[in-house]
Amino acid sequence: MNLPTIDPPPVQPIDPKNEEKEHLLNLSADELTAWLTERGHPKFRSGQILHWIFQRRVQQFSEMSDLPKALREELENHFTIYVTQSEATVTSPDGTDKLLVRLPDGGEVECVLLRDGSRRSICVSSQVGCAMGCVFCASGLDGVDRNLTKGEILEQMLLLQDRLPEEERLSHIVMMGMGEPLANLDRVLGALAVAKNPKGLGISPRRITISTVGLPPAIDRLGDTGVPYNLAVSLHAPNDNLRSQLVPVNRKIGIDAVLNAADRYFESSGRRLTFEYVLLGGVNDSEDEAGELVRILRKRNVLLNVIPYNPVEGLPYVTPSKKSIAEFRKILEQGGVNVQFRQRKGSEIDAACGQLRRNRGQSKTPSSPANG
Ligand code: SAH
Repeated sequence: MNLPTIDPPPVQPIDPKNEEKEHLLNLSADELTAWLTERGHPKFRSGQILHWIFQRRVQQFSEMSDLPKALREELENHFTIYVTQSEATVTSPDGTDKLLVRLPDGGEVECVLLRDGSRRSICVSSQVGCAMGCVFCASGLDGVDRNLTKGEILEQMLLLQDRLPEEERLSHIVMMGMGEPLANLDRVLGALAVAKNPKGLGISPRRITISTVGLPPAIDRLGDTGVPYNLAVSLHAPNDNLRSQLVPVNRKIGIDAVLNAADRYFESSGRRLTFEYVLLGGVNDSEDEAGELVRILRKRNVLLNVIPYNPVEGLPYVTPSKKSIAEFRKILEQGGVNVQFRQRKGSEIDAACGQLRRNRGQSKTPSSPANG
């Protein structure tokens, strides 16, 4: 049997001097240009530096061979490129790598690389923990510790890119790791601006998806950027009664406000919306719920992404049987909903958010399972 393998942590000591240095990846391209020009360097050095880091994958200023030596030293004295460390890597036989990333303050987040045909997709975290409290999700069991910085979000992308051979490039990004990206929107947008910059990772916003529990004012702000990112809304229930049990933040928002904000995003971005629906056996997988979903989604230009629950130790939920998944699917398909049933890749390596961190015993165990 092909079991996942856990690599020992790489020997990658972080220089204690780095703690006093500024994290280069927190700067925008314009801020880096300003820093350089203030010190009398030409503007184009900024693009060269980004190119070295994001495309040539170097980790040291000393390797940036087309920069003058004095500038390399100046950069070295002022900035650090990496502040995080890859703590553990789990590789699954289906081509999925999951990293546990250790932050400078000792916090940990997870990120994943998925290989699928020519696609090289990554799933990235936006917060340490999560405040949304979805009752079936491992990430939020202990609440949220803090927002990630823009640089910490970018570092996950770089650490995952580093797993690829030189001739392979990242093709897609999903902000579906730990945390609620729209609760840390400025930094997420800052990181994605570099991800889509041709001098950064050069990934089209059409290949970048931001997944949210559904925070209407932040969805509107995302729409106001005018950048055509894909929006995925985690719906999980077709009515307020059930949704408020599964996604507690819904109590203050309500499903109609979420759907209306999603509709506005579709209007302004022109991007087809995705709704995510984690299928929990005996909880949200009945024929009634399938029928209600048809009524909500039939008239909308959406893709419904149904994800059978990936069990989390200590939580009372179960993956539905094949038979009930098939029945749920039939109702949606017959109702004219554009639906996709996805088996989570990498489920054998705890690829659902927050699970690797928990299983490594880094977080507290809940005294009782949340709700449900
Ligand atoms: N906070 C954001 C993004 C992070 S969660 C959001 O809510 O969309 C990314 C997706 O994984 C969400 O749809 C979430 O509901 C789903 N998810 C969380 N735990 C899961 C589990 N144990 N099994 C299957 N999907 C899960």
